[in-house]
Amino acid sequence: MITCGKEQIIRILRAIATEIEKNKIYLTELDSAIGDADHGINMNRGFKSVVEKVASVEDKCIGTILKTTGTALVSSVGGASGPLYGTAFLYAGKELTGKEELYPADIKTAFQAALEGIIKRGRAQVGDKTIVDTLSPVVDYLQSNLDNKPKEEILNDMEKAAGKGKDSTKEMIALKGRASFLKERSRGHLDPGAVSCYIMIKAFVSILGDEK
Ligand code: ADP
Ligand code: MG
Repeated sequence: MITCGKEQIIRILRAIATEIEKNKIYLTELDSAIGDADHGINMNRGFKSVVEKVASVEDKCIGTILKTTGTALVSSVGGASGPLYGTAFLYAGKELTGKEELYPADIKTAFQAALEGIIKRGRAQVGDKTIVDTLSPVVDYLQSNLDNKPKEEILNDMEKAAGKGKDSTKEMIALKGRASFLKERSRGHLDPGAVSCYIMIKAFVSILGDEK
C-alpha cells in the first residue's frame, strides 16, 4: 500500500528544491524558446523559499506544511507559475488539515485538489500546453483502485503518466500563458511548466520509493 508520512513530505519538498536547482538552466532554456526565459529562475527562487519557510513548521500537520509551501511559492515567485503551483499546494494542504500520515485516499484527494487549484486559477484544460498536461493524467491514474496495488507499481505508473503527459506538450500549440502569443510557433517545444511538474512528480516518486 502507498502511504506517506510527514517526514517524507519534508524530504519530498527538499528533493523538489534540489532537482529544480539542478534543472534551473534547462527549465530556463525551455522557457526561452516559447516564453521569457525565467521559468528555472522562478522555480528555483520559489523552492529555495519553500525550504526556508517549511523549516519552521516541520512539527506541524501535513496540511500546514503544504499550506506553508503554497504561501511561500505565491509570495516569492513573480511569474505565472508561482501563483499556479502556490494555489495547488494551498488546495492540497486544505484537504490534509490535521494529518500526520497519508493513505491512498488522502494521496488521491491531495493530487485532485492540487489540479483543481491550478485549473481554478489558470483556467487551462488538457491540451493547452501547460502544467495541467502533466498533472491531469496522474490524477486520472489515481482514480483507479489503489488499495490493493503495491506501492512500487503505483509510483511507477504515476511517473509514467506524468512523463507521457509532459511529452505530449511538445506537439501542442499553447493556448494559455505567454507561449500562447506565439501561436503555431509554440509547436515543437516542450512546455516548461509541464517539465517542472514532471520533475516534482519524479521527486515524489523517488522519495516514496526509497522507503522500505
Ligand atoms: P511566466 O509565464 O509568467 O514567465 P513562468 O515562466 O514561471 O511564468 O511559467 C510558465 C509556465 O506556466 C508555462 O510553461 C505553463 O506551463 C504555465 N502556465 C502559464 N499559464 C498557465 C495557465 N493558465 N494554466 C496552467 N499553467 C500555466
Ligand atoms: Mg517565463
